[in-house]
Amino acid sequence: MSHVVELRSDTFTLPTPRMLEAATTARLGDDVYGEDPAVIELEELSAKSLGKAAGCLMPSGTMANLAALLTHSPRGGKAVVGSESDIYVYEAGGASVFGGIVYEPVTAAPDGTLPLAAVAEAFDVDREDPQFALPAVLALETPHNRRGGIPLDAGYLAAAGALAREHGVALHLDGARIFNAAIALGVPAAELAAPADTVQFCLSKGLSAPIGSVLVGDERSIATARRYRKMLGGGMRQAGIVAACGIIALTEMVDRLADDHAHARRLAEGLADIPGLRLDPEPPRTNMVFFTVDTRHTPHTTETVIEGARARGVHLAELGPGRVRAVTHSGVTAADIDRAVSALADTMAARPGAGW
Ligand SMILES: *Cc1c(COP(=O)(O)O)cnc(C)c1O
Repeated sequence: MSHVVELRSDTFTLPTPRMLEAATTARLGDDVYGEDPAVIELEELSAKSLGKAAGCLMPSGTMANLAALLTHSPRGGKAVVGSESDIYVYEAGGASVFGGIVYEPVTAAPDGTLPLAAVAEAFDVDREDPQFALPAVLALETPHNRRGGIPLDAGYLAAAGALAREHGVALHLDGARIFNAAIALGVPAAELAAPADTVQFCLSKGLSAPIGSVLVGDERSIATARRYRKMLGGGMRQAGIVAACGIIALTEMVDRLADDHAHARRLAEGLADIPGLRLDPEPPRTNMVFFTVDTRHTPHTTETVIEGARARGVHLAELGPGRVRAVTHSGVTAADIDRAVSALADTMAARPGAGW
C-alpha cells in the first residue's frame, strides 16, 4: 500500500529539508544565558510578526499557555477560559496545579466565541467581598479547535480586549494556529494579536517545525514568563537547533497554509457527497474538517468509520464524542485528499467490519 494519509493532526508534520539543514548549521549558544543567536532571532521575528515588543521560545504550547497564565494571575486569582478550550480541556489543569489559579469556564458558542455577556458576568465580582476569587486573566483560542477550527474575527477580539481592560483583566490569546486564522480572515496576524497582552503560537503544527511555541507580549510580561519557563523546567540550552527550524517555519511556511485550507475545503466537498456523513461546521474555515456519522441512516458508527478509513491507509481521529476530525497540513497533497474521500466512500459503502 502507498503511504498513510495522516489526517489526525497537523502535529504530525515533519521538519522540511531546509529546517534540518538550518538546525545543523545554526550558530549555537546557551539560551539560559540569553546567548543563542538563533533563539534571539526567532524571538525577535515572532514578536515582530505579531506586533509585540518581545518573545520567548517555549518547548510547547502547553508551557506557553501555562507561563502566560502564571504571569497574569496571582495565586487564588481567576482565569476565565472557554469550556472547550485547549487550556481547559487538554492541559492537565496546569494553572490550577502549579499556580493555584481558579479556572472559570464560559460555554463557547458554536462559532468559537465566548459570549461577551457571559464573560462580563464572570468578571463582575464585588472586589470588596472576600468571598470571591478575583478575575485576573481571560484566555481566548483562535482558531478554536473544538469548535471546528473557526477563527475569531478581529472585531470580536477587539471587543473582548476592551472588556478585559475595563475590568483590569489581562487577555491571553491561545493562537496555536493564529497564522491559519489570519489567512482565513485575510487580515495580518498582528491585527488579531493587537488586543491581547500575550499570544502564544505553535511552530510545531501547520508551520511544520518539529518542536516549539513562542509566547509574545510586552517586555515585562515576557520577562516574567521567561522566569516561569525556567521554573517549569523549560529553559533549554543550545535551543538554537529548535529555533533554527522555527525561523524557517515563520519565513517559509506561513503563506502555504492557504493550501491546507484549500485541501480542507476539497475534503469537505468530497465528504458532502457520501451518504451517512454530515459535515459540521460547513464549509471548513481553516485546516480542519469535522463530521459526524448519521447513525439513523447508516449501520456505521464513529468507531467503524475511523477503523474502515485506517484499514484503507487514512488516519482520522475522534475529537469530542461522536465527532471525527481531519486536519490538513504540509504532509498532505490534493491526491491524498482524493484518496481520503475514496477511503471514506468505500468504508461507508461496505458493511461495518467487512473487508478490513
Ligand atoms: C496544540 C495546541 C496547544 C498546545 O500545544 P502543545 O505544543 O501540543 O503543548 C494549545 N492550544 C491549542 C489551541 C492547540 O491546538
